[in-house]
Amino acid sequence: MNPIRPSIPASRYGARLDAVREEARAAGVDGLLIGVGADMRYLTGYPAMPLERLTMLVIPTVGDRALVAPRLEVAPARLCPPAASGDLPVVTWEESDDAHALVAGMLTESVGEGRPELRIAVSDDLPARHLLRLQGRLPDARFELGSPILGALRVVKDADEIVLLTEAAHAADRVVAQIAAGRLVGRTESDVAREVRERLIAEGHEAAHFAIVGSGSNSASPHHEASERVIQAGEPIVLDIGGSIDGYGSDITRTLWVTGGHPSNGPDERFRHLFGVLYGAQAAATRAVRAGITAEAIDSAARGPIEAEGYGEAFFHRTGHGIGLDGHEDPYIIAGNETPLRAGMAFSIEPGIYLVGEYGARIEDIVVCGPDGPVTLNEAPRELYVVDG
Ligand code: ZN
Ligand code: ZN
Ligand code: ZN
Repeated sequence: MNPIRPSIPASRYGARLDAVREEARAAGVDGLLIGVGADMRYLTGYPAMPLERLTMLVIPTVGDRALVAPRLEVAPARLCPPAASGDLPVVTWEESDDAHALVAGMLTESVGEGRPELRIAVSDDLPARHLLRLQGRLPDARFELGSPILGALRVVKDADEIVLLTEAAHAADRVVAQIAAGRLVGRTESDVAREVRERLIAEGHEAAHFAIVGSGSNSASPHHEASERVIQAGEPIVLDIGGSIDGYGSDITRTLWVTGGHPSNGPDERFRHLFGVLYGAQAAATRAVRAGITAEAIDSAARGPIEAEGYGEAFFHRTGHGIGLDGHEDPYIIAGNETPLRAGMAFSIEPGIYLVGEYGARIEDIVVCGPDGPVTLNEAPRELYVVDG
């Protein structure tokens, strides 16, 4: 094992905390309240447990920021880089304290009493149990989603984030190769999914998040997880797997065809044709990636060749999604999203063709918009994997 794991340099968090305050100020809000989740991890490096007790990053646009944590979580909270370096004070609350009142007080104090209507942006995934209590403590404040403020920062990945996404992509590539080389026929999808999860961890992921194993007619169901269905010779398997390294996700899909060792069980003409169309579409969308092109243009680049071959109805999901500390985040590669791509954006390109009830295929890579065009992070071959299984 490699003893030196990549990670985000500690100094980066102070810069992000300053930058998000600037964004908040520019947006005209008085403060940001960030609950446990990807936004908190992005700003502090703290992968806090999502507990019912309130842990919250409080960032007034005027005044001092702080990380509020329950007493029993204080030790890990103080270890996050900006807290450890003294850039972010940790304020603790005791079991009998009203943590929501504490946070409300910190905001009103920094902004100053007598301000008629506070504008407060909260992390999008803040649980209702916290948001409603905060609203109860600040009845005159206006609450809004934090994603317009945070999204502007998170959507463009820095070089260290791209290193982590690349590490994760390569680890997932290795798992695809291992699964394709192993035994499949006669096993259940869930048994293979279990093996995928174990291998994702063995290859360096800190967590395995999903393992879609769709065999036979299940390959035509894009979000099929894994069932007790037994894999047979002479059918396709859509393998869509991912986990995370230091919070940053992997997400790869490859399509296999298992013969059971008998060439006569190989893919039929129709499947080969379908797969060829899909392969061309995925490559065309990847080639189209460059700074300035819209997200929806990438979606059309994938959809065009599929529609031209009469499979338009069989490609019924968006072409891709952004990826970072969240497995699905901006930018979404979908019709109607006129966001121009910027260098540093990272997203999946994952068209699929599904003949419901029969079979289907999908190819998915994580692609970064580079300064001179696409940078595909996954290196596993994208061709149909015709394997003995
Ligand atoms: Zn998905
Ligand atoms: Zn996927
Ligand atoms: Zn995906």
